[in-house]
Amino acid sequence: MKELINLNGVGPKILKILNNNGFYSTNDLIEYYPFRYDEMSRSDIDSLEQDERIVIDGYSENFPFLIRLKGKLDKMTFRFNVGSRIVNVVIFNRGFLRNKIKPRTTLTLVGKYDLKHNTIIASDIKFSALSSLPPIIPIYHSFEGITSKQISSLISQIEDYNVIEYVPDYLKEKYGLLDKLESVKKIHNPSDMKEVKSATNYLKYEELFLFMLKMNRLKNNKNNQVGLKRDVEYSKVVEFIDNLPFKLTKDQLKSVDDIYSDLMSHNRMNRLLQGDVGSGKTIVSIIAIYINYLSGYQSALMAPTEILAHQHFNNIVNLFKNYNIRVSLLTGKMKVKEKKEVYKKLESKEIDLIIGTHALFQDDVKYNNLGLVITDEQHRFGVNQRGSLKNKGITPDILYMSATPIPRTYALTLYGDMDISTIRTRPEGRKEIITTLKHDSEIKDVLESMLEELKKGHQIYVIAPLIEESDKINLENINELESKMKSAFSKYYNIGVMHGKMESKEKEAVMNQFQNNEIQILISTTVIEVGVDVKNATMMVIFDSFRFGLSAIHQLRGRVGRNEIQSYCILISSKQTDRLNILTETSDGFKISEEDFRLRGSGDLFGLRQSGDMSFMIADIKNDYNILLYAKEDSKDFLKCKIDDIKYKHIKDLIDKNESLN
Ligand code: ADP
Ligand code: MG
Repeated sequence: MKELINLNGVGPKILKILNNNGFYSTNDLIEYYPFRYDEMSRSDIDSLEQDERIVIDGYSENFPFLIRLKGKLDKMTFRFNVGSRIVNVVIFNRGFLRNKIKPRTTLTLVGKYDLKHNTIIASDIKFSALSSLPPIIPIYHSFEGITSKQISSLISQIEDYNVIEYVPDYLKEKYGLLDKLESVKKIHNPSDMKEVKSATNYLKYEELFLFMLKMNRLKNNKNNQVGLKRDVEYSKVVEFIDNLPFKLTKDQLKSVDDIYSDLMSHNRMNRLLQGDVGSGKTIVSIIAIYINYLSGYQSALMAPTEILAHQHFNNIVNLFKNYNIRVSLLTGKMKVKEKKEVYKKLESKEIDLIIGTHALFQDDVKYNNLGLVITDEQHRFGVNQRGSLKNKGITPDILYMSATPIPRTYALTLYGDMDISTIRTRPEGRKEIITTLKHDSEIKDVLESMLEELKKGHQIYVIAPLIEESDKINLENINELESKMKSAFSKYYNIGVMHGKMESKEKEAVMNQFQNNEIQILISTTVIEVGVDVKNATMMVIFDSFRFGLSAIHQLRGRVGRNEIQSYCILISSKQTDRLNILTETSDGFKISEEDFRLRGSGDLFGLRQSGDMSFMIADIKNDYNILLYAKEDSKDFLKCKIDDIKYKHIKDLIDKNESLN
């Protein structure tokens, strides 16, 4: 099979980006499916409305005219004959194509039709007639500047598809599914939308079937598992709680109870601690760690990002300062030497609690009597990781924390293998975050409200819109926001910027400055979404909020309102504000997620792609819920009767790969 580096268009730089994004082989590319398709049938130009999408071929009438604009931007115009008439064409930033366009060059244009000015604003230009182009064009999510087109071109060079089919024949027959090979080929190169549909059917089913197999396998295994023996008096727990700087809420206490019973019983704990942002899950997990420590076992706390790991570390060191608990940090970004030091101490049990990222469960890490594993922001991790982190130690108890309340029906399916504790109430004294909607044109009001908060000595998050198809635009947006904020505030206040393309060291530095109030306004993309806790931040301003899912906004705004001070969230949007209304009315994450599901399906539940449990490659748990239910039943039968059939060994191997010691 071809290596990535042998594909046209892949040099060391592109290869690195591909690797960074999890593409190591051509197979990884093959499994990167389009998220939508552009149909390339010729538009009837006479029936188009203002600004409607247009796909049309014809030939140029003249040499193009090129205007250089600010920066590296340019604008090219020419006259274009579409057969029935001549129209104007405008296309931005394709100046490099200028010499390829001459009078009577055949072209196909894709773009928008400006009826009033008889002009096509082209977004794409192809040097051939429409009839010789593929009838539908797959569109892929771009990443780090690699465009959908580039991805498409890479995939089109791959000849041998090395796919393994995981749906057993009898199930393929039952649902009339295509073969996997055919499905994968068609999903990248369909001749019509019907083919897309049948290809998708196979792939969705396979994805959900495997997911349910893993889930049910975990569940079955759990039922026959013996946990660790512990003997800790409850009074010790009470004493610890009494010494905390605040009083636990009822739900926190109930969750502690649940966990205490789990840890004392001889069944293995497999519990999800669910609770809205800011509900105070961390402290509950710290108590679990304390109980585990008293029993003489090590604990591991895994966070999805370096920033969050550091934050937990600082918090926890502080909370444990009067106890003899030895806490260490382990993250992927640490120097090899530092890591080795930590490995050594872990193995010789000079560490009681290790806090970190995925690095906690790399092969090199050996624990000494690991008794408890906690993952924070569980929804960020996939079910695969859920398995793999159990592989360390003997049979550690497991506690998952998730800030994303999901509708009950889905929770039962997705977290069906776990017990659940829920924190519904927020700590006492917290005020509701006052959320308001503002139109783009009301920016002046927004800036005034911001100034008021700043004058009170408070800090502000400004969230830049997330744009799916182009990372470039995203950065431009941030820069624009930055200059906007600077011109309004930089005289008296400091402004910092944080985005996903920064090194994690840089991000951390900025986050620290914000934490220490050296920066008053932090402009950020959604990288801050997860778990960050800066108590003095009392306002969040979200630009282009219509681009975000409701739950994503809800999570984001949970970064403010972290103490008794009144906090604010301002949602700026140019359109579709109706949908956002619910955010001004309620702060109940469960309600909001129901609404999100109703409106958008699960795909964007977290406002981010590929964010763990519920981000499937191709399935969507809301829209494909019926398939999920079938897959659930089929997977149970399969585990009961077929799993040990030698014919299905590859399926068994796959689902057991992640949990060999489980
Ligand atoms: P999340 O559930 O989103 O992870 P955290 O655990 O980060 O929330 O808690 C949010 C903040 O509330 C933290 O600063 C924490 O110290 C504080 N906190 C947690 N429980 C209480 C409580 N019972 N009373 C007051 N403050 C609390
Ligand atoms: Mg948290």
